Amino acid sequence: MQTFDKEAIKKSIIDNVKNQFRKTIDEATPQQVYQAVAYAVKDVIIDNWIATQKTFDDLKVKKVYYLSMEFLMGRALGNNIINLGEQKEIREALEELGFDLNAIEDQEPDPALGNGGLGRLAACFLDSLATLGYPAYGCGIRYHYGMFKQKIENGYQIEVPDEWLKNGYPFEIRRAEYATEVKFGGYVKTVWNGQRNVFVQEGYQSVLAVPYDMPIVGYGNNVVNTLRIWDAQPINTFSLTAFDKGDYQKAVEQENLAKNLVEVLYPNDNHYAGKELRLKQQYFFNSASLQVAIKKFKEQNEDIHMLPEKVVFQMNDTHPTVSVAELMRILLDEEHLEWEDAWDITTRCCAYTNHTIMAEALEKWPIELFSRLLPRIYQIVEEINRRFLLEVGQKYPNNYEKVKKMAIIFDGQVKMAHLAIVAGFSVNGVARLHTEILKKQELRDFYEMMPEKFNNKTNGITQRRFLLHGNPLLAQWVTDKIGNEWITDLPHISKLAIYAEDEKCRQEFMNIKYQNKLRLAKYIKEHNGIDVDPRSIFDVQVKRLHEYKRQLLNILHVMYLYNQLKDNPGIDMVPRTFIFGAKAAAGYQIAKKTIKLINSVADVINNDKSINGKIKVVFIEDYKVSNAEIIFAAADVSEQISTASKEASGTGNMKFMLNGALTLGTMDGANVEIVEEVGEDNAFIFGLTSDEVINFENNGGYNPVEIFNTDQEIRRVLMQLINGYYAPQDPELFRDIYNSLLNTKNSAKADTYFILKDFHSYADAQQRVEAAYRDETKWAKAAMMNVACSGKFSSDRTIEEYVRDIWHLKKVKVELD
Ligand SMILES: *Cc1c(COP(=O)(O)O)cnc(C)c1O
Repeated sequence: MQTFDKEAIKKSIIDNVKNQFRKTIDEATPQQVYQAVAYAVKDVIIDNWIATQKTFDDLKVKKVYYLSMEFLMGRALGNNIINLGEQKEIREALEELGFDLNAIEDQEPDPALGNGGLGRLAACFLDSLATLGYPAYGCGIRYHYGMFKQKIENGYQIEVPDEWLKNGYPFEIRRAEYATEVKFGGYVKTVWNGQRNVFVQEGYQSVLAVPYDMPIVGYGNNVVNTLRIWDAQPINTFSLTAFDKGDYQKAVEQENLAKNLVEVLYPNDNHYAGKELRLKQQYFFNSASLQVAIKKFKEQNEDIHMLPEKVVFQMNDTHPTVSVAELMRILLDEEHLEWEDAWDITTRCCAYTNHTIMAEALEKWPIELFSRLLPRIYQIVEEINRRFLLEVGQKYPNNYEKVKKMAIIFDGQVKMAHLAIVAGFSVNGVARLHTEILKKQELRDFYEMMPEKFNNKTNGITQRRFLLHGNPLLAQWVTDKIGNEWITDLPHISKLAIYAEDEKCRQEFMNIKYQNKLRLAKYIKEHNGIDVDPRSIFDVQVKRLHEYKRQLLNILHVMYLYNQLKDNPGIDMVPRTFIFGAKAAAGYQIAKKTIKLINSVADVINNDKSINGKIKVVFIEDYKVSNAEIIFAAADVSEQISTASKEASGTGNMKFMLNGALTLGTMDGANVEIVEEVGEDNAFIFGLTSDEVINFENNGGYNPVEIFNTDQEIRRVLMQLINGYYAPQDPELFRDIYNSLLNTKNSAKADTYFILKDFHSYADAQQRVEAAYRDETKWAKAAMMNVACSGKFSSDRTIEEYVRDIWHLKKVKVELD
């Protein structure tokens, strides 16, 4: 490992401040010091980066291209410093210059190029790939505005643009030499070249895709992989020689296309919005990524038929599925292969990860839009569909039902999941339960026809960000107890189990939790102005706001607890701080109203002196990776309460577990596997099972009105939604939430997420939480067992499974001269 002593670091920081900002270190602002430190760190990374890429070239290794619309990276500086093994030196160098490393890290904006779990998974995978030494590229989009910043005003979410590039981003490098053209629209001309038909796109608009590379630093191994995010630029910036009107018009259009293309990340999580610009974004980054991947391959290999031996494209959800047709286009139109040959190569290069079974998330593009925007790609998809339906017909003669259910193009729409399954050689779900539901329910017909493609890869998280960086006190304690192998081999953490039997160790462990609760309490005081009691139970639900994730169940239960406390102020209750953090998609009205409800309940409860601070409710503004790290470290209870069958995996659940929080959850997603590892006694499980939910759904739902009519406590809470109890100025404010639970008007089903059905089971589980917390020894043991049993949930394990079953990569060692 290239090292960097303290004096050299100081000099580098001082020089950077001088050269970048014409200032002495004493005059520099914290932001300028951050930039200077980042450039100093980048200088170290660069040598490893060059050495890594040279090693890949020399060995002609196989690479995975991880194609993803989202990479929710979190801050880079602190993580890079740790992975380079330079934390101690840099911290000390900064101290001697009069700065605190943590405060400097706080100057970095989160590159929030993702919505939630899917984007964070991509980021964890890149960290694991680099740390394990596998050659990998992340491929995505350089959104100029990432996920919006959330402000809470008067209890409402306000979306503010996230200008993460405002001060420049020190870790990225513009790679103009890899710029490439991406074409949209126009028409396809068929030309006979004497031997075969050649397809030429004409009358199109195009943009220049320009890549920016960010280093992905492996932990302690010199490996630096690349996250390549594409920016767009007009192809000829207004250098108009011909002043005729048509060209002028076209130049303006191309300029606007480039500008709009990479402007924003759509803020929908698990929801398909059908926006034309979104499809353009998809084709833009996939076409650019594939063109350059193939060009690179051809520099090192003679025969295009070798492509599947050297390259694998992993599609993170259906968003990159146009890749399949783009690869076919390149092989047919540019490499002049025959269809069968091109198809054979494509179907050995592309693999697909499914992330959800929810109907509203499935991407289905209208033919009109798809064919207008991507005329040649549409022709190819049509031909893929035609040939696939012939196969379906052979396997199931005269079975129109099968065609209807499996066709790629049907009923005026292009179904991206079907294209991904037909063209991919692997189709994986993201937790065992999710994969089983795919096979038995959602994708049953495909599973029957091509069972060999289906496999499970339970998600994971990187312990380097979510323990080593996010929870330094616990990380150091773990290392003191069992050594540092857990950092690159998480299952070693099971050695902690014996310390759960030791009173002194339990006290040390719980004291660290307390210190982390103090850190979060300070953050809350600074950001929310609310005092919270660090001795109370920190009961946390942080994740995207979505009906299926059921933040509403949580806050209704808080309302119910508050009613109990008001009726009986003397009630013996362990003080609780209910902490929420969640962004809602900008157009998702009921989700935004739920945020308002949480804040309204918080206002009433936090200001009610009569309850002696026994309940506090806190909504943390702008939930993102950097504050997530602080929140996980401080949590006692991890709320994972989705309607069973709806959460494909979840990864927040794993981050909490790693930090010693106990799961309060349904048997959904990866919760099932978490409970399997830690044991039912060390978690609080409640609610309908996925089979029960699916059964109700297949039989027309259930009737929540019956519960409303027979259950006084639930009725009282629901009435408080519409009697102004939490909104005296506007008693109707929460009517739509009330309606979503009870009303069948507009023939929409009521309570489709089984909130009332699961309510009492949840309230019981919450009582078990309280009882368990009263027994300090038992709680400490359970919390420690959660950490000790988290070994399975490292993304290192997930990546090793992808490599073994799907990617077949070889590890690379990088030696520095
Ligand atoms: C892990 C993570 C998520 C995903 O959380 P879930 O509970 O699995 O939905 C979302 N956002 C951020 C910032 C995360 O770190």
